Amino acid sequence: MENHVVWHDGAVKRSDRNALNNHKSGLVWFTGLSACGKSTIVHNVEKKLFVRGIRTYVLDGDNVRHGLNSNLGFSREDRKENLRRIAEVSKLFADAGILVLAAFISPYREDREYIRERFKGDNFFEIYVKCSVEECERRDPKGQYKKARAGIIKNYTGISAPYEEPENPDMVIDTENFDLESSVSKVIELLEKSNILSVK
Ligand code: ADP
Repeated sequence: MENHVVWHDGAVKRSDRNALNNHKSGLVWFTGLSACGKSTIVHNVEKKLFVRGIRTYVLDGDNVRHGLNSNLGFSREDRKENLRRIAEVSKLFADAGILVLAAFISPYREDREYIRERFKGDNFFEIYVKCSVEECERRDPKGQYKKARAGIIKNYTGISAPYEEPENPDMVIDTENFDLESSVSKVIELLEKSNILSVK
């Protein structure tokens, strides 16, 4: 398709928005099996950041699939497109000065690498929320593992579709051995250490 669209630079830049907000923007990506604890951790991290005046936004797999990506399923191609759109939305949010907290199973290394590449040189963190399939299945907060075992849900990560563990994440959070509070603190510490929560 021929494309004559030219990027238009705004008069207000990301650096201006970061200065106004008094913190940096970027993307914190949480990957892991369903029920490993991504959403729970992310929403608690957001609460902690909010009271500190940090402008954040949570992008959550289930919610995004209700709207922006409602036309996508769970085939290999659709999973890829799902994450491509999230990466682009995250870029827009980051440009708007927001620290994006994204919780997506994102089972394929190739797709996560794509997102890392799109955020190259930017504030990007990959956090692997680690939990065994056995424990996730025991938790099964939405009853999906049960349905996947029964064959009612097809292509279910961990049961009938693969999960490729991150090889070099910025942080691993083991939710079988650490409670929620210490998991949340670890994330905040990473952001503090990386100088995200201030503009200096
Ligand atoms: P995901 O977003 O990864 O699918 P959820 O956050 O929706 O997972 O569900 C995780 C479940 O695991 C919740 O029911 C939560 O209460 C439970 N859980 C048990 N221990 C932890 C922990 N240390 N961190 C986060 N969640 C935990």
